[in-house]
Amino acid sequence: MSAPVDPAPDYDVVVVGAGFAGLYALYALRAEGLSVVGFESGSDVGGTWFWNRYPGARCDTESLDYSYSFDKDLQQDWTWSERYATQPEILRYLNHVADRFALRPLIRFHTEVTSAVYDEDSATWTVGTSTADTVRARYVVMAAGVLSSLKELDFPGLERFRGTRLHTARWPHEGVDLSGQRVAVIGTGSSGVQLVPRLAPQTAHLHVLQRTANFSVPARNRPVLPEEAAREKAGYDERRAEIRVSRAGMKEIPAEGSALDHDAAERTRIFEWRWAYGGGPTFLRTFTDLALDEQANATAADFVRAKIRETVADPETADSLSPKGFPIGTKRLCVDTDYYATFNRPDVTLVDLRKTPLVEFTENGIRTTAGEIELDAVVFATGFDALTGAITRIDVRGRGGETVAEHWADGPRTMLGVAVAGFPNLFTVTGPGSPSVLGNVVASIEQHVEWIVDCLRHAREVGAVSVEATREAEEDWSRQAAEAAAQTLMARNASWYTGANIPGKARQLLPYAGGVGRFREICDDVAARGYPGFHFTVPTPTGHQA
Ligand code: NAP
Repeated sequence: MSAPVDPAPDYDVVVVGAGFAGLYALYALRAEGLSVVGFESGSDVGGTWFWNRYPGARCDTESLDYSYSFDKDLQQDWTWSERYATQPEILRYLNHVADRFALRPLIRFHTEVTSAVYDEDSATWTVGTSTADTVRARYVVMAAGVLSSLKELDFPGLERFRGTRLHTARWPHEGVDLSGQRVAVIGTGSSGVQLVPRLAPQTAHLHVLQRTANFSVPARNRPVLPEEAAREKAGYDERRAEIRVSRAGMKEIPAEGSALDHDAAERTRIFEWRWAYGGGPTFLRTFTDLALDEQANATAADFVRAKIRETVADPETADSLSPKGFPIGTKRLCVDTDYYATFNRPDVTLVDLRKTPLVEFTENGIRTTAGEIELDAVVFATGFDALTGAITRIDVRGRGGETVAEHWADGPRTMLGVAVAGFPNLFTVTGPGSPSVLGNVVASIEQHVEWIVDCLRHAREVGAVSVEATREAEEDWSRQAAEAAAQTLMARNASWYTGANIPGKARQLLPYAGGVGRFREICDDVAARGYPGFHFTVPTPTGHQA
């Protein structure tokens, strides 16, 4: 580490992605007086909400929380129309934010970042893109999304299929008319569960191909009444303050103690109330120990299975739809509107791939072990290479030419989910090792971006040209994250949370499970103590780094 430092890169910071994370990073870094440029592969802002335009797509964190808190006028001016906003409404919001804060001119659209190579001599990154654009910057902020890199479609014979192929996360912007068609949906995670009830009334016949039944709870979505919006806005500061220290980064109905402290009748009464009025993913926090204790968890799983049997008329279909063999919530809980009831329609068929596995695609459809299903269109709702895929698919090379993909070959290691040892001046927003997807990701995005801005201010104040997590700090944080994971049931189950949906991906709980509030405290403490665990390189008076 002793070479002249190049004083003039093109930009202080490159921001990769223009969704919730990228837009806020651009805003906050520019406000800090840094020169910034954003790269976005899409034609416009929105990230997840730009790409996932399938019918039924909506958020299942309440809109009042799943929105920026950084600007009080913004949160007073914007009014959400529903408790859980639809994809079009969230996209309108992000467009509004981009315009209101003049962020669009900072972003180069239609430009995918393909490489980022660190030059140790000049302490800068050279960022390569799918266009001729190449820029050099002091820092790179990866804001490319946690559920944005698609899982590869590796179905035998897929190339033979002559019908329409769609993916929930690449839905055509002009929409697609599937009325009167024979359609299959492959995948019954959150995307499939939202899509199926909306597609069924259009199609001639809908086949839902399910490999693993997942638990789904009702959203209980509803319009936000004007008086409710006014009340919430009047108390927004308190609401935001509460979620900053909360476990999941969102407003919650308090849990009713341990599930095991109640007798069966009382427990059922409490679950019934949540099911009817609570709505959404907070079902898992009906009691304090549902995510931690198998016996407590089983009470919630049994309750939901009973609801499925109550709702679905055909007992065999109900049985196939009933998740088995894993605790509720250890695969991401789905939140739906009328999902199970949709299987009572005569024009909807559940294809249980555990009983009749998918053999191959044919020219005219899909063959399972039970025979051929003729189809005009197939929708893939098959998921993502979560948390790491958006970073590892880019050729990111740090010290000594090591790639992030190599560094993470045995599972991702980070310092606080925000920095990677050996990759100076590179930051990951809501990366692996941070709470990220285990809660309201917008709250976590704001927390991470603000921490990064503070860190860069500190770097400037001490005259550093680079900041880098140390290997010891990365090891220590990875150990702490593993300890937090070990407390949960989630870490033991195969799911995208643990990397199990991607062949060859190392298995570990990817997000930090210690809670949003606790994580914020840890990050704040690191900043307050002058960033122990990070090395700041300061050039010597001779123009060399020390
Ligand atoms: P996902 O949860 O990973 O679900 C993928 C589905 O595809 C699973 O049912 C999976 O079955 C199936 N699948 C994958 N490969 C398959 C194959 N080769 N053959 C048969 N089935 C296959 O993906 P997602 O539904 O897109 O959701 C991902 C995450 O995005 C969610 O968990 C959530 O965090 C977020 N999301 C949120 C919302 C919301 O806010 N409401 C909406 C959509 C997405 P197996 O389980 O057997 O692998």
